[in-house]
Amino acid sequence: MRILKFGGTSMSDAQTWQQVVNIIKRYESPFVVVSATSRTTRKLIEAARTALDDIDESYSIASEINHRHKKIIQDFFDGSPNDASVLDNCNNRIDELSDGLETQLKTINSEQELTAQKKDAIASVGEQLSSYLFAQCASTVGLSTRWVDAGDIIRTDSDFGKANPNEDYIANQSASLKKIIDNGQVPIMGGYYGIDDHGHTTTLGFEGSDYSASLIGAALNAEAIEIWTDVSGIFTCDPRFVPDAKPISQLSFQEATELAYFGAKVLHPSTTKPASQKQIPVWVKNIFDPDKSGTRISSESTRVGPVKAITYKENCTIVTVTSSQTVMGYEFLAGVFDILRWHHLAVDVVTTTEASVSIGIENGANLDEVIEQLKGYGSVDVLDQQGIISLVGCSNDRSLVTNILTQVNNVPQNLISYSRAKGNLNLVVDKDQVLPVVRDIHQKLFE
Ligand code: ADP
Ligand code: MG
Repeated sequence: MRILKFGGTSMSDAQTWQQVVNIIKRYESPFVVVSATSRTTRKLIEAARTALDDIDESYSIASEINHRHKKIIQDFFDGSPNDASVLDNCNNRIDELSDGLETQLKTINSEQELTAQKKDAIASVGEQLSSYLFAQCASTVGLSTRWVDAGDIIRTDSDFGKANPNEDYIANQSASLKKIIDNGQVPIMGGYYGIDDHGHTTTLGFEGSDYSASLIGAALNAEAIEIWTDVSGIFTCDPRFVPDAKPISQLSFQEATELAYFGAKVLHPSTTKPASQKQIPVWVKNIFDPDKSGTRISSESTRVGPVKAITYKENCTIVTVTSSQTVMGYEFLAGVFDILRWHHLAVDVVTTTEASVSIGIENGANLDEVIEQLKGYGSVDVLDQQGIISLVGCSNDRSLVTNILTQVNNVPQNLISYSRAKGNLNLVVDKDQVLPVVRDIHQKLFE
């Protein structure tokens, strides 16, 4: 039994839905996880934010989402479904979820508050829509499907926006899921969202549908988890920005996790966790070229060149704290990191000197408050407009780092960290230098 996950790019219109149906039909007894249709999650969050000061504008974003989904359904049936009740079910469900969305937008406007909890409830509407509608549509073209509400399966804690799954709870739902499959039906579940112990909707973070697929894969002891997208696997660099990037046939769980963590948005960084615990291989494959083998991620790692892949993040800040004389060295580092822990800030790069620590952090969090608190430990310098370039899966060839640094010595390196044991090299450069440097290194290493 395999888990098939289809991302937003695969769910973008009626044609790709048909393509997804054709792929599902190749499998004996799959479990399907789908994302929201492309751009929907972003639009939903935009509607939620807009509702704070322009309720009419937020309603019009909601209505655009409604119409786009109705159009996909209409196009899928090409105007004449062989079962008219399915079209009615779909349109009713779209209107029902739209009404719910409007009510939530109205509450945001009247309470003048957008909490992380409210944001999650709204963000999940995309997957609630796509999964139900796709299950209905696919059932009219020869697939016996059964919609599964992720709220019944994916139990999480209440860390809204980046909730942590309760894997034991999810495993306990496996019997009911297996029953659906044993009945010859294909379960279709929305990714990305779940529910906490109090019945509130939560989300697993950006690109969280990959994680949902992996959680289900582990719960059902699947033979493989297949992430279907718009590229033929994981490449040596983002093929959208580095056209000479090459597909990688094999990656280890650790290499894939690092790639995802350091910016390769082809995979959610936590996807590999449940899969590696159960030793279930994860495949990344292309819906537009389904016969291409794609990338296999497993515990095996094969070396083909000096570096497996390059990835980058373009919106980072370096914060340097220089200790005031009054704080002892060990207290200084502990104190600085305690503040980051308190703010749930993940650190991407760290270097230290005797009296200072420099930290590379991805933007997004409210750094102002963090910086104010860090001042309690010393003076704070902030260098914004930075980007982090990460080389993943470096060989332990001693001249590798020297060669790479020589290659890019015309660009100032603001921070460097290297672990030979982990095969990882991170360079922080000015944001506008990121892409030229990435292309330069890529050309040197792979072309
Ligand atoms: P989906 O909607 O299927 O989840 P995503 O847009 O999340 O698709 O992920 C696929 C995209 O990830 C590709 O179109 C590609 O531009 C981007 N990407 C970034 N880094 C890489 C990489 N190293 N290999 C492949 N794709 C990458
Ligand atoms: Mg994705």
